[in-house]
Amino acid sequence: MHIYADNAATTKMSRTAIEAMLPYMDKIYGNPSSLYTIGQEAKEALESARERIAVCLGCTPREITFTSGGSEADNQALLSAAAIGARKGKKHIISTAFEHHAILHTLKKLEKQGFEVELLDVHKNGLVTPEQVANAIREDTCLVTIMYANNEIGTVQPIAEIGAVCREKGVLFHTDAVQAAGHLPIDVVAQNIDMLSLSAHKFHGPKGCGVLYARRGIALTNVIEGGAQERGKRAGTENVPAIMGMAAALEESCDNMDSDNFRLAALRDRLIEGLDQIPYSELNGDREHRLPTNVNFCFEGIEGESLLLLLDDKGISASSGSACTSGSLDPSHVLLAIGRPHEVAHGSLRLTIGPDCDQEQIDYIIRSVEEVVTYLRNMSPFWRDLVTGKRPHVFAK
Ligand SMILES: *Cc1c(COP(=O)(O)O)cnc(C)c1O
Repeated sequence: MHIYADNAATTKMSRTAIEAMLPYMDKIYGNPSSLYTIGQEAKEALESARERIAVCLGCTPREITFTSGGSEADNQALLSAAAIGARKGKKHIISTAFEHHAILHTLKKLEKQGFEVELLDVHKNGLVTPEQVANAIREDTCLVTIMYANNEIGTVQPIAEIGAVCREKGVLFHTDAVQAAGHLPIDVVAQNIDMLSLSAHKFHGPKGCGVLYARRGIALTNVIEGGAQERGKRAGTENVPAIMGMAAALEESCDNMDSDNFRLAALRDRLIEGLDQIPYSELNGDREHRLPTNVNFCFEGIEGESLLLLLDDKGISASSGSACTSGSLDPSHVLLAIGRPHEVAHGSLRLTIGPDCDQEQIDYIIRSVEEVVTYLRNMSPFWRDLVTGKRPHVFAK
């Protein structure tokens, strides 16, 4: 049995997306900037993809810029908002401690350029409130950037309300919606979103392709200089096949969203209830306000990496912390941000299910995790200290 339970890291491409790409690798391979027919056919396809994606987000095609993915969109959003702020003498930026590194590392860079970055505390349940944002906004705040759904613990922020606070105070609001796009409803107008990032490979599209939405009138700063593509704001020959795949994948995900989420949330809940039976374990992130695909647990007395390797032996692909941080020994910044102590933050497991998942798979995952956790604990001197009372338990049960 192979079970892919790491859909927050990347997803398998859908058939629809693959088929939407093929003609643009084969027959219509022209450069959209070329004037002859196969160039102009590629250009037309590109613009139709832009329109279809705009419909999914509730914006106009002109407000869409194609990028190489979520990271580039995040970088460009933040650098653009910072440049707009700097021109008005506003250099205060508000974000949260549990953003993706594409946000946090760009903020570090801006700090070195003289911006003041304020990271809001995330509550124990993995949520920030609109009130926290309202209280943090100052005269010189130029940007609020808060993710829609967290990639590790799956918590979903009250984006529309946060957007309303920013709109009222006249501050630009960006959201990293990479985990939300194709999975949760997006309407940039109703949700008061000025800028938004998404990435195709998180909703069954191809890797290396994403979108930055920026509301009309927001001047973008180039991250990549060169040709005049994307209205001069993002140089480089457009990745037409990937963009066609992205448009098809986004439309398909949005069309199926309600029925998929209904089914997946029930499977997620079964998984949470099963893993909750394991002693001295706790769910990370709010039970209600979370992605229908995300389950994230901490287990006392466990090393996340060992857990992953043994689950892999049982055919289960899962994650501990985020894919970007595995390979480093630091515990996840997200789990630390919600107040998990180091020793349990090291023992985390993220399972993110996809459309192929069913009850049989869920039950197999529960059995396997139980077995592996018991096996690892029996070998662990750290666990022995907990059992003999030499060391206090972190969790109540
Ligand atoms: C995956 C991810 C990104 C990065 O997107 P890429 O397309 O892989 O660069 C950014 N933010 C979040 C929340 C993500 O999950």
